[in-house]
Amino acid sequence: MSVRVRFAPSPTGQVHIGNIRAAIFNWLFARHNGGQFLLRIEDTDRERSTPEAVQTILGAMEWLGLNFDETPLYQSTQHGQHHEAAEKLLAAGRAYKEDKGGTGQGECILFRMPGTDMGFHDEIKGDLLKKAEDMKDFVIVRSDGSPVFHLANVVDDITQGITHIIRGDDHVENTFRHVALYQALGAPVPRYAHLPMIVNAQGKPYSKRDGAAYVGQFRDMGYSADALFNYLTLLGWSPGEDREKMTRDEIIAAFTLDRVKSSPAQMDIRKLTHMNGLYLADLPLDIFAAGVRRHLATLDWGQALDETLFMKVCRLMQSRTPLFVQSESWKYFFVDPLDYDEKAVHKTLRKEGVKAALETIRDHLAGCDFSEVGIQQAIRSSEAALGSGEGKLNQTIRIAVTGVTTGAGIYETLCVLGRERSLTRFNNTLTTQLGAP
Ligand code: GLU
Repeated sequence: MSVRVRFAPSPTGQVHIGNIRAAIFNWLFARHNGGQFLLRIEDTDRERSTPEAVQTILGAMEWLGLNFDETPLYQSTQHGQHHEAAEKLLAAGRAYKEDKGGTGQGECILFRMPGTDMGFHDEIKGDLLKKAEDMKDFVIVRSDGSPVFHLANVVDDITQGITHIIRGDDHVENTFRHVALYQALGAPVPRYAHLPMIVNAQGKPYSKRDGAAYVGQFRDMGYSADALFNYLTLLGWSPGEDREKMTRDEIIAAFTLDRVKSSPAQMDIRKLTHMNGLYLADLPLDIFAAGVRRHLATLDWGQALDETLFMKVCRLMQSRTPLFVQSESWKYFFVDPLDYDEKAVHKTLRKEGVKAALETIRDHLAGCDFSEVGIQQAIRSSEAALGSGEGKLNQTIRIAVTGVTTGAGIYETLCVLGRERSLTRFNNTLTTQLGAP
């Protein structure tokens, strides 16, 4: 039997990461098994479904490389099939009509549950059971003739020949009803795999209140599609060993449902950002530079940068920049005067002996070979001259030449800035921050 799975989103708004993770797991399962991955747009709720939301879904899938097989099926085109199934159930005595609430508004159609305990095997959660008395008959066609989710969902899965249903575990309870519908319609029951919920740090369902929650937000924040894809595969699935960054082919090869965890998966944006950093670090330099350039072009200081300096900075900062937006912190490489971090200046520079120390270091740097090694030696000999421990003055130097407390190694940073600019920075800091004449 060839595998056929589907992603069946309701087009009512943004694409939540929980939904797209379901799409990713279906896609991986299909690709691993050489099967088919289908798209079905569950647009039966005419009031809430919008064409824009369909475009958002298609855009998110394309961005993440989730290519689907066959033409997408729109649920709203399947009402004929839904009604046919309802008629079949009525004829077999498995459904009945009722004027619910006796309002005279017309009759709806209810499905008759079998009246026995029910169970199904879930590939992730194991065997699940429910008592007969906990399952009531339910509406499958409303009095206005519109099919209810349960009927439409099952009938469409039969129409599309779906073999495995991989979806969020918010649907576990529905599945007992769905299994009963399959049986009553005489269709083979597919296999089920309910994915663990994505939760926040408190273990509650992850929502937009917890931070970015929609695919479009991550794209706008500059996350790479490959990094988000990779990160989301690890939310609830594990390749076994302690592997992190994996190519798509590696993930496809390793993806099996028995490695999906049954416990909730915690969303951690810091881990995603770290993952993004691994992807950015591996980009060819010119592609990385192009991404940075696109971002910096949105800033007033970031447009006409010296190309040679820009490429040197990219080379230095690539492995330390997990998101393109963080290139905003590179301003000190390009712009004078510096934006000094006031607190750092106060704490580190406005101390006794700093003025003399900066002057000594400046003078050593003025005469040294301005390579990383040369710079390091100059700083070492300044430290010796000042009776200061090795590396003790690094932070002072950093603040003096960049105005801030973090960045790449100080020797590398000075080297990229170049001698002339570095010396000017020492002098400017001495005059503007330390009141030296
Ligand atoms: N439209 C439903 C949802 O988005 C589909 C559930 C399913 O995959 O069966 O929750």
